[in-house]
Amino acid sequence: MTCEFSLEHYRDLLRAAQSGGYRWAGFDAPPEPGVVLLRHDVDLSLDAALAVALVEAEEGAWSTWFLMTRSVFYNLASSEGVAAIERLRSLGHRVAHHAVWPDVDLDSRFDSVVAWHNPDPEYMRAPIEGAVNVMESPFFDPDHYRSDSNQHWRHGCPHEALARGEFEWLQLLTHPEIWAFDGATMRESMESMLDADRAARLEHLRNDRIDLS
Ligand SMILES: [Zn+2]
Ligand SMILES: [Zn+2]
Repeated sequence: MTCEFSLEHYRDLLRAAQSGGYRWAGFDAPPEPGVVLLRHDVDLSLDAALAVALVEAEEGAWSTWFLMTRSVFYNLASSEGVAAIERLRSLGHRVAHHAVWPDVDLDSRFDSVVAWHNPDPEYMRAPIEGAVNVMESPFFDPDHYRSDSNQHWRHGCPHEALARGEFEWLQLLTHPEIWAFDGATMRESMESMLDADRAARLEHLRNDRIDLS
């Protein structure tokens, strides 16, 4: 098994957690031994989120999706954004808020759970009024946390440790764009995403009655 950032290996990761005896959990209760809190920060692409969300549903998994209200890359208020939230919920996932400091736009679209985008240390773990901050205790602890930031696992891909049940519990942060778009490096994955985005935007132009003849 090669630890590449692909939907195939993401599926391996889910199966590893299941064979390690873990069950899925969210941010509504303190993590108990034996749970994996699957967390996704959606920084760039709702299409990537939906692709990963489908793999999870196929594997009997569910997770918490953190969506941005002020992204320059996608518009959650567009018909696509509204449909993405509906699709995530219908697949059995939870939807929470990926906020850009200092603005918290919690509304009825979201569970009362917040993950800051690219947080600075000063506020990363600070309590947020009326919401759970995923990086505060008891949901975050360095020994119970792994992240795939920029296609780099600081402690290596966790699939083997999950299969062996080595974590007491784990918050596992993954970014769907890394897994849904092909690329051996972050640069290559981003080029794949931009190629797909161009095709999607051409379709939007057609739907907007733009003459492309
Ligand atoms: Zn792996
Ligand atoms: Zn982010």
